[in-house]
Amino acid sequence: MIGITRLYCGTATPGDTLRYGRQTSKLPAHLLHYSEDKKPIVVWNYTRRCNLRCIHCYSDSHEQDYPGELTTEEGKRFLDDVAEFQSPTVLFSGGEPFTRGDLFDLASYGIAQGLRCVISTNGTLIDAATARQIKETGFSYVGVSLDGMQKTNDKFRGKKGAFEEALQGIRNCREAGVRVGLRFTITKYNFRELPEILDLLESENIPRCCFYHLAYAGRGGKLSKSDLAPEETRWAVDLILDRTMDFHKRGIEKDILTVDNHTDGVYLYMRLLQENPERAEEVYQMLRWNGGNQSGIAIADVDNLGNVHADQFWQHYSFGNVKERKIGDIWTDTSDPLMAGLKNRKPLLEGRCAVCKYLDICNGNLRVRAEAATGNPWAPDPACYLTDAEIGIA
Ligand code: SF4
Repeated sequence: MIGITRLYCGTATPGDTLRYGRQTSKLPAHLLHYSEDKKPIVVWNYTRRCNLRCIHCYSDSHEQDYPGELTTEEGKRFLDDVAEFQSPTVLFSGGEPFTRGDLFDLASYGIAQGLRCVISTNGTLIDAATARQIKETGFSYVGVSLDGMQKTNDKFRGKKGAFEEALQGIRNCREAGVRVGLRFTITKYNFRELPEILDLLESENIPRCCFYHLAYAGRGGKLSKSDLAPEETRWAVDLILDRTMDFHKRGIEKDILTVDNHTDGVYLYMRLLQENPERAEEVYQMLRWNGGNQSGIAIADVDNLGNVHADQFWQHYSFGNVKERKIGDIWTDTSDPLMAGLKNRKPLLEGRCAVCKYLDICNGNLRVRAEAATGNPWAPDPACYLTDAEIGIA
């Protein structure tokens, strides 16, 4: 995750992070990327059931029961273990979290254990009463997925009217005083609508937006041929950077981030070298602390059945199950070669990633995308859009 506003517009500095001692338990949420002890943020796909049929869904969810999901009691035991491991945040995801009845019970329990609870949702089930309950429960943030304007989004989501329903969900959250933001996955089919999405952030007064690069997993795997060409990605990232700076200069508070392509951090640094070399050096320092991709390190995923994965896109490979072992024990057990490799991947990386001069701030990018494209988790990430000259190997 690259905090574009905080890095590019200078609203976070190395000093901010140092003041908190760089320990996960002490850092406020917006500085967690720069922690030293790297306790993982846990994505919990706590149900696989979903009311929509999005074409890029990594968990390949449907409107049906999935036997074996963690019960409420098992969920609470799991949250105890997450808190004991001192993970800072649990992200309730799916499927669609609001299709399961014990969301508020579990989140209240997690918050009482000191966890910061956030939700990732398609937003279509958030009516006014639900939004008030989100607020009362104490969720810190709700991320609502929109993948284009009306026509495009509804096609992505497999439901006519999904755009309006999600937008109403966002408005209900804002009305109830819940911090809410957008999640947008960039593909060939929707990237030309980025300007309209950025306009929407302003007209709807939505304070945060995460732009996700495509990971080739689940139903998104079938879209791998629909990923952007390097020049298209550069166009998209330049647009995001320009518009983020424009918001900042006009005094409009927006927290803009990009996710699942750490090439963005390198690209931002290279741009700052031209525009503001002094800030570029500060940003490089923060990107180094961030450490590039954190799959298997500071981002963990637990699926609906309790299986632990390196991130949400590795659903096909498990390190163990939280019904049988504590998440902390599974996460620190490096007897599994993939877990060991992800935690110390530099000696294993191949091709251009192995010799890239920005390896320290990218960490070889999203390994599951390399695996999906080549069958080899240590191959170069196919979504890197930098030239050989830019990464110092020409
Ligand atoms: S070559 Fe690999 S390590 Fe370097 S920026 Fe691209 S994806 Fe990252």
